[in-house]
Amino acid sequence: MIGSMRYKEADRIVTLYTRERGRLSAIARGVRRTKSKVGGRLEPFTLAQISLYSGRSLYTVVGVETLRTFQAVRDELFRLEEGARLLGAARHLFPSEERNAPAFNLLARGVAKLAEAPDAAEASKVVLATRLKLLAVLGYAPDLGSCAYCGGDGSVFGFSPSLGGVVCESCAGGEATACFALSLGALATMRVLLESPLADLGAMDVDERALAEVEQVVSQTLAYHGH
Ligand SMILES: [Zn+2]
Repeated sequence: MIGSMRYKEADRIVTLYTRERGRLSAIARGVRRTKSKVGGRLEPFTLAQISLYSGRSLYTVVGVETLRTFQAVRDELFRLEEGARLLGAARHLFPSEERNAPAFNLLARGVAKLAEAPDAAEASKVVLATRLKLLAVLGYAPDLGSCAYCGGDGSVFGFSPSLGGVVCESCAGGEATACFALSLGALATMRVLLESPLADLGAMDVDERALAEVEQVVSQTLAYHGH
């Protein structure tokens, strides 16, 4: 479950990311009544087998069988804050009702890794890497090879969210290429995060400043492609 909002007196509209149908919204009736069977099981981050009834305009949740609650994400503020970024990316990036099994698996692995993160630094690294990998799975991976504007392989100056890649020094001054500067350390970090499995991140020592730059690349690329 990746999002939820109140609806009428006792209902909620929940946003789910499903293995079978991608992102979708469904109405969960009566969940805000204390004796509701569905309610307590529909928490953000929960991995569940959900039965849906397909109505004329909206799905209705008719059954929830919890597989993993990932309660640890909700138990610590630093995990919850990072988790909110991850779910936000999932809500805004995935197109509605488009099946994407690799994206589903990645999101589930990201939440599982976040649940195990011992401190804020690791939680932030896991979520940054997961968001970067989600961009890649959806075909929006930043192009780090050659200049996204001229195609040349001159030395890299910065990153352009609208072009979705790095920009060389000679193109960076031009009006057509709005970009921000990127250090070599950030470029290297981005490659490492894209290529390493989430499970390996814990042992990895990454420069904080480089991570902050990668964060800027990821959040601006998300903002550009999100809806
Ligand atoms: Zn160029």
